[in-house]
Parts: sequence; C-alpha cells; structure tokens
Amino acid sequence: MNNNWLRKTLKDFAPYAVAPIHEKTVINANESYFNILSLPSVMKDAEEALASLKPQIYPAPMADTLREAIADYLSVDPSWILAGNGGDEVITYIINTFLDPEDILLTHAPTFDMYDTEAAVIGAKTISVPDLPGFKRDWDGIAKAVEKYQPKLTVLCDPNNPTGELAPLSEIERIVSLSKNPVLVDEAYMEFAQAESAISLIKKYPNVMVIRTLSKAFGLAGMRCGYMVADSDMIDAVSKVKSPYNLNIFTQAFGAIALKHRDEIFKVRDGIIAERDRFLAELSSVNGIRVYPSSTNFFLMDAGTYAPALFEALRKADILVKKYKSPEMASFFRITVTTKDVDERVLSVIREVIPNA
Ligand code: PMP
Repeated sequence: MNNNWLRKTLKDFAPYAVAPIHEKTVINANESYFNILSLPSVMKDAEEALASLKPQIYPAPMADTLREAIADYLSVDPSWILAGNGGDEVITYIINTFLDPEDILLTHAPTFDMYDTEAAVIGAKTISVPDLPGFKRDWDGIAKAVEKYQPKLTVLCDPNNPTGELAPLSEIERIVSLSKNPVLVDEAYMEFAQAESAISLIKKYPNVMVIRTLSKAFGLAGMRCGYMVADSDMIDAVSKVKSPYNLNIFTQAFGAIALKHRDEIFKVRDGIIAERDRFLAELSSVNGIRVYPSSTNFFLMDAGTYAPALFEALRKADILVKKYKSPEMASFFRITVTTKDVDERVLSVIREVIPNA
C-alpha cells in the first residue's frame, strides 16, 4: 500500500502487539481462569436472556439496562455511566473527546500502553513521569509535571499495570486538585485491590473520570465490556464521539447478568487474591528473582540475567507469560495469577532454570 495514503501520525506507527499464543497455559493477559457460564445461576439467566433477545433491532444506544446494573453496583446515578467494548474503547473515546493534535497527555511509566498509543494516533504527545526505584509512583514528580504543563489529559492507572502498585487516594486527589483539565483514573484492576475508588472524588472534582472493566475480576475479557464513571456533563461530552450503537445486545444483556451475580463471581476473585498473596510470599524467598507487591491479579517479576532462559523454559513447559520489548524492562515478566496448580508449575520451572533458587 502507498504509505502516503496514511494519516501522518500513522506512518511510523507500531500497532499494539498481541503475542501469538501457542501455549496451553496462558498467563500473559491478566484474564480470569474461570468461566462464569459454569455457574448454574448465571447460565440460567443467560439462557433466559438469549430467548428474549431481538437481534433484528439495534441495541439501546446508551445500554440502559447495563448502565443501571453498573450504577447499582457502584451506588451512583446511571447518568454517570458510559459503557463501551472494553475499557479500551472507552479510552479511545476519552482521548478523542479531550485531546487535539500536539496536546499533552501526562502519565507515569511504566503503565498500560493504550493511552500513549491512542494519543499518538491523533498526534498528541505523551509525557511520562518515570516511577521511582521499586516501581513506586513519583507523586511529587507527577504533581510538578501537572503544574508545569497543565496537560489536556492526565492518566493515572490505579492499581497500575504492569507494576501492580496501588496509589493512596490522597495522592490521586492531589493530582486531580492541581489539574485544571480532565484526569482519568484507570481502575481496571480495582476489584482486586478492594481499596477506596477515585469514584468518591467525582462529586467534589468534576474533572475526574474513572474507567472500570468486566474483563478482569468479572472474567469477561472475551465479551468486551468496560465503562467510565464521571459526572453526567463529562458523560455527555464523551457521548459526542461514541458510535451510536457501540455495544451489542449480547454484551448489554450478559454484562448486566454478571453484575447481578457478582457475589458468586467475587468468590473466584477472592480466591485469586488469596493465591496471589500466597504465591508472592513464596516467590519472595526464591533466590535469583525479585517479585513486586501487587494489588491486582498479576505481578511483576525481575528474573535478571536468567530472563531469556526462563522465558524459553516456561514456553517449553507450555506456559506463556508477558515479557517486554523495552530495554529497561527486558528482564521482567508480568505473570497473571490464576490457580495454585499453575503457580506451582511456574515455580518448578524457575527452580529448574535458576541454580539454588
Ligand atoms: N486498563 C488497563 C490498565 C488494562 O490493563 C486493560 C486490559 N489490559 C484495560 C484498561 C482494558 O481492558 P478491556 O478493554 O478488556 O476492558
């Protein structure tokens, strides 16, 4: 294809790369191991919903039933919710609503790639404040950068992907109060942190937006359902760029069903949290690797010089973990926590590769 046909910003653009999967055990994408359709109560409601769906009719533009179910879950007004095909779609909408070419998006590093990727598509610039040693967010650095640049959009990922670090809400509030412009807090993993959400800041600070997803703790990554929570004026603003019928009828129906059965689904989430804490405690005494504390369903591991050999050995053991291209992250893996069986297999591969581990 003629490269000149492309929008200028896309000429040297590297798309978000999804690793090809050949392994049987996939712990590279923070998915749940549990199929919620195996819960009889969920399956019963899903079958009933399927029987009454009308695929010949366009879906509700603002996903009213789902919106109400989310609002009920979070104890907010439905006018504060906008649902999309995963948090990813909502991120795209937010970037398209608030950023012009050359505008600044401020975030921290390392973090989730999509903010920078979407900003780059429209020609906005990302400025990232690097974490302090040990992957602690540099809150003073972020605060200074907000005051210096007054970025059109600031994004804080909390708990952060890939580090797993949870921010004190007071630090998020500091950034929000310093910023004259919108601040997006990405809480895709907040159900695993069980901490107070930045949603509680929205009444006081109308520039706050929060993203959540059903892909992680609700185990519905394949269904594509995420949403933003913000003051209704912000929701109306972002609705301007939303495609009219963005969310299909299946997602609208099944998303609401998952939320209705959250108590049962969260038992699985609770098991993952317990396994995460158990496994991290076990790994922290293993020589030759370093693991970082996590408030999510994954954790970061530094395997130092053993990283290439360990990645290959895991692959041979049919286990896929997430590794990073950037030189400063080359020795790191991000490992999704699923079950004790899987984790014990990971540990035995670590012990095979690293002498005296
Ligand atoms: N935010 C963060 C921090 C994520 O890690 C992800 C998924 N990898 C998302 C948002 C988007 O998730 P989804 O589109 O599946 O809702």
